[in-house]
Amino acid sequence: MKQIAILVSGSGTNAQKIIEHFANSEKANISVVISDNREAYALTRAQNLGIEALALTRADFRSGARPLAELRKRDIDLVILAGFLSLVPKCLIEAYPDRIINIHPALLPKFGGKGMYGDHVHRAVIEAGKSESGITIHTIDEHFDRGTIIAQYTTPVSSDDTPESLATKIHALEHAHFPHTIESYIDKITAMDNQKRLLLISNSTTAGEPYLKYPIGNIAQFLQGVKEVAFVPYAAVTFSYDAYEAKVQERFDEIGIKVRSIHRDADPAATIRQAEAICVGGGNTFALLKKMHEQGVVEAIRERVEAGVPYVGWSAGSNVCCPTICTTNDMPIVQPASFGAVSAVKFQINPHYLDTHPEGHAGETREQRILEYIEANDGMWVAGLREGCMLLVESGRMELIGARPMRMFRKGTETFEVNPGDDLSFLL
Ligand code: ASP
Repeated sequence: MKQIAILVSGSGTNAQKIIEHFANSEKANISVVISDNREAYALTRAQNLGIEALALTRADFRSGARPLAELRKRDIDLVILAGFLSLVPKCLIEAYPDRIINIHPALLPKFGGKGMYGDHVHRAVIEAGKSESGITIHTIDEHFDRGTIIAQYTTPVSSDDTPESLATKIHALEHAHFPHTIESYIDKITAMDNQKRLLLISNSTTAGEPYLKYPIGNIAQFLQGVKEVAFVPYAAVTFSYDAYEAKVQERFDEIGIKVRSIHRDADPAATIRQAEAICVGGGNTFALLKKMHEQGVVEAIRERVEAGVPYVGWSAGSNVCCPTICTTNDMPIVQPASFGAVSAVKFQINPHYLDTHPEGHAGETREQRILEYIEANDGMWVAGLREGCMLLVESGRMELIGARPMRMFRKGTETFEVNPGDDLSFLL
């Protein structure tokens, strides 16, 4: 069941249609209606329909922290903009890649962008002499009316149409098509989530053992049938990418898989897009993410993971599968374009999670550092993944593998342990 938040600024007729459409759905639950305007009638509509209504301010949306926390606290999977006029903050767009849907009252890419809302759009369409207008339902990126088009529906514009009469036609189209288009998109993302295959390993090596020795059996099982992996070596800092590839190849020789590092390719993202499987090695998480951003590898991996291509990461390679790298243990030795990462899972991993604290050491414990993270990132789960452990995501399920429990943190929830075999669906 996907959890949905609807963001609105005005009357909320579309929000109402969406709420009614999903009233008895087993696919999605409208969890909350959030407005940037406390006077919005949409809030009253939501309450009348038994849905939580939350009024935030335009200032909240300019900063982004509060809306993001409210979405996370409710485990929101998909955000619907149903006549929402504030700019969606970058942190929300990063946290919900391809998971924020907007409806625009014209046929994009024309008649979009700044100032193009409500009757301004319809007036522009009429003044341009168009014989057709319509609606565009699309995902958003940092530029308001861009992103990927999910669906468009059209209506004729007649010579005697006024902005008001065209608005009426467009509203009818919205009411007729927005809810079922959202439902199809939910089917699509549910299918993508169910086909995700991830093996997220805490650490490469058990102290005293050879590199990647302990997890190689799990990797072999996970990558059954794969002949070659695209390897992302960018976490290597004090040794070369060639040396890193060779080191991983040595272990992968045992399971008959060729390791092809992407650093030699002119277009590493293209290599990722053609790969049978993807492996991302540990090292310095900041160095790794910086290069991944520079090469377009973050988006390429996200796309392929959603298409069901198996992904193996260890340590920093597991961390970059999370929404951000903010729970790494590494030093920020370089500055990536952003801390936003692949978002293949919704929670944060702290790899190499450590309980012990050296005697006489006055610095923070690992637990203290994570408690600071959750204080500043309300609603976010952090999984303290101890060494020798890994998370396997397959068929819409997640399993903890290893001999140790995993420590779970979230603001407002008492820290607790989960054991191998426990239900982890709350993280998915
Ligand atoms: N430096 C670690 C690794 O990739 C990552 C971490 O400790 O967060 O091995």
